[in-house]
Amino acid sequence: MANRSSVIDCYVGLGSNLDQPVQQIERALAELNNLANTDCVAVSSLYHSQPMGPADQPDFVNAVARLATTCSALELLQQLLALENAHGRQRQPQQQNGPRTLDLDLLIYGDQCIDEPGLTVPHPGLRQRDFVVLPLLEISPDIDVPGFGRLAVWREKSLNHGAKRGNPPSWQ
Ligand code: ADP
Ligand code: MG
Repeated sequence: MANRSSVIDCYVGLGSNLDQPVQQIERALAELNNLANTDCVAVSSLYHSQPMGPADQPDFVNAVARLATTCSALELLQQLLALENAHGRQRQPQQQNGPRTLDLDLLIYGDQCIDEPGLTVPHPGLRQRDFVVLPLLEISPDIDVPGFGRLAVWREKSLNHGAKRGNPPSWQ
């Protein structure tokens, strides 16, 4: 990256439950590292979790990547949405939390709190979702969530909504 002084430390959550989810996530991790002006500096283990939305869909495979980027948050989000599209992501407006080939969420972007149409950072669901919290703490145990505080402190007091390290047994 050309201008190291403006490098931002950020985190992206990955999820997939369609069309060979493990391969979808592994391919997406390589693609994140290949984005212009962005390096992938750490990757969690793979986790699996039960769907939050309709129950008649496969379990999810999840991971979190830590990136160093000189892109703005909006530029990065646009790149993430383009990657989702390249993986054949189809959005069904009437169905929230439905099945997807690839979901990429910008979880944390430096120390910034952003709330504008189409972009909320930190991601609003971050603290409620073990499939995000557990991989995030694996790679950055001391992380502070901007506007909230130390994630590990909150995690100790939280309910476990269920996410396990490793692939779903049927996919190994
Ligand atoms: P979800 O991830 O909640 O299931 P989608 O992946 O369909 O939903 O995303 C819907 C919209 O959420 C995207 O078009 C995007 O503009 C918006 N969005 C807002 N903040 C974020 C964020 N931090 N990361 C990813 N998408 C976001
Ligand atoms: Mg998303």
